Amino acid sequence: MTAKKPTAETRSFQAEVSKLLKIVANALYSEREVFLRELISNAADACDKLRFLALSAPDLSAGDPAFSIRLSVDKEARTLTIADNGVGMSEADLHDNLGTIARSGTAAFVEELSGDSKKDVGLIGQFGVGFYSAFMVADKVEVLTRRAGEAQAHLWTSDGLGEYTVAPAEKASRGTVITLYLKEDAGEFLERSRLQQIVRTYSDHIPFPVVFAEGEADGETLNKASALWTRSKSDVSDDDYREFYHHVGHAADEPWLTVHWKAEGRIEYHALLFVPSQRPFDLFHPERRHHVKLYVKRVFITDDAEGLVPSWLRFVKGVIDCEDLPLNISREMLQKNPVVASVSQAVTKRILGELKKKAEGDAETYATFWNNFGAVLKEGLYGDGLEHREALLSLVRFRSSTQDGLTSLADYVARMKDGQEAIFYIAAESEEAAAASPQLEGFRKKGVEVLYLTDPIDEFWVPMLFEGFEGKPLKSITRGGADLKSIADAETPADGDKEGKDDAAADQGAVAALVASVKLALGDAVKDVRTTDRLADSPVCLVADEGDMDMNLERMLRQHKQLDQAAKRVLELNPDHPLIRTLADRVKGGASGPTVDDAAHLLLDQARILEGEPVPDAKAFTRRLSAVMTKAM
Ligand code: ADP
Ligand code: MG
Repeated sequence: MTAKKPTAETRSFQAEVSKLLKIVANALYSEREVFLRELISNAADACDKLRFLALSAPDLSAGDPAFSIRLSVDKEARTLTIADNGVGMSEADLHDNLGTIARSGTAAFVEELSGDSKKDVGLIGQFGVGFYSAFMVADKVEVLTRRAGEAQAHLWTSDGLGEYTVAPAEKASRGTVITLYLKEDAGEFLERSRLQQIVRTYSDHIPFPVVFAEGEADGETLNKASALWTRSKSDVSDDDYREFYHHVGHAADEPWLTVHWKAEGRIEYHALLFVPSQRPFDLFHPERRHHVKLYVKRVFITDDAEGLVPSWLRFVKGVIDCEDLPLNISREMLQKNPVVASVSQAVTKRILGELKKKAEGDAETYATFWNNFGAVLKEGLYGDGLEHREALLSLVRFRSSTQDGLTSLADYVARMKDGQEAIFYIAAESEEAAAASPQLEGFRKKGVEVLYLTDPIDEFWVPMLFEGFEGKPLKSITRGGADLKSIADAETPADGDKEGKDDAAADQGAVAALVASVKLALGDAVKDVRTTDRLADSPVCLVADEGDMDMNLERMLRQHKQLDQAAKRVLELNPDHPLIRTLADRVKGGASGPTVDDAAHLLLDQARILEGEPVPDAKAFTRRLSAVMTKAM
């Protein structure tokens, strides 16, 4: 047997990384000092990971159980070194972690990079580049690392220009040493006072000592090195919170909401939780799971604790540190653990309560939150969020046909008209599509407010809301009858104009005849034909029958190929529209045959076009339209 000869291996960075590196290296980034925050953050994560692994395998940290992060400089060689005694990396880890970006949503993010460095720096600020930020200040980076429990160390080297090399190396102890060969203009990072200032600004909260080491001496600890979440609120500044959020959430934006509390009583825990101000790229990525880290008595346990925070709060980041769980708890045990379940309940309630305060206290900033995360929050309105339904319903916001900004259900109900029984809504692909819907016309004319439901998720929770809101059912205006008759008019109509009434009565007979002939002409193409009062300017529209699927949902399912046959629709005619009146008169006057047949089909096709749907037989449509136009000219 021949031992595998250790050799260096050079690989290209993943395309996304290369693109990112180019921007990072050339960016005139005003805050390039944040590279240190990123490297210290990674070192702290590595210490956290090993401390957890050592719970079940104490050998891994034996001999050197005190975790720390050490900074040192060599002014002659112009190098800055960041060393940790955390978990370290194997050869495979190096390739996976420092050659690619494993984070979900990366490809989509990189696609958004424009090449315009000003704009891209802003985007990178949102995404965060972590380790790769080292190349903002260094033109060469070395990572010497040895995985805890392994004998072989490895050296990763790169100038950040497209390739990196990994070679076997010697290292006496576990952990990672990162050496930055500083750029010409980055000499400031060789100065102890500068490093101290950066650590105090960005890394004070790191729960391990960050030491400035000169030679082999013990050095000086630069940070507070205590778990931030266990400090009392009065000892923590907004800056501390923000920097901790950046670290714990791997985020680069400002926290929109910070909630920090200590629960005492039956179950004791500390919680420090954040809601981001920007929507992360991977919010709807199926791999995106949990972003609240679970600690037990200051020891990091997992950042993937199933059941700690419901998935419809997956935008929440931060730490929960529980006193009442065993340190050796496994992921499987976590899922069924009653302590975790109670903490989860309490934390969920608290977050919803804080959101409510924001919603009621400052509608404008709440709107930002809602636009970012409303669609996720609404997932709680079906599935496992039922016990929080009431709280969630008070947080839901909508655009509507009569209001400028967002409205709540309670505000809608307060504005309901006399005689209005239901909360009306229209589901559509966008606000614009909803606002342009013909079905809305009659509601608008009567001054009846209609909510716009434009998130796909709305199609799922709204039908589950059987008991409605405050006893008012939610009703789609594109399904079933319009229910407008019982609602008081916006402006009271001029009373008892006798002639007008006779006129309307006379029309009714003619319109009924028209409805019958259209129905006959269209046969199987529609479920029914009827008149409606939901239209004002348009002659016709389509609606779904009462028991059928709402049309928007049906369109959505067909787009996703989850439905191949649409249910038949009801064609509704506007009896007050000149076209319908004229047609009704003609039918009453004895018109029949191809003229009525063509008109019926053209009415149906118009209704389809109004829905934004294709006309199924374009050739027949054109022939009919041409015939009608010829006659008219
Ligand atoms: P993130 O921290 O968001 O995962 P980074 O780019 O900062 O992204 O780091 C990439 C990965 O490299 C980390 O997730 C980690 O697995 C690995 N890594 C970086 N620095 C260290 C370190 N000092 N010790 C161990 N692993 C590290
Ligand atoms: Mg990082």
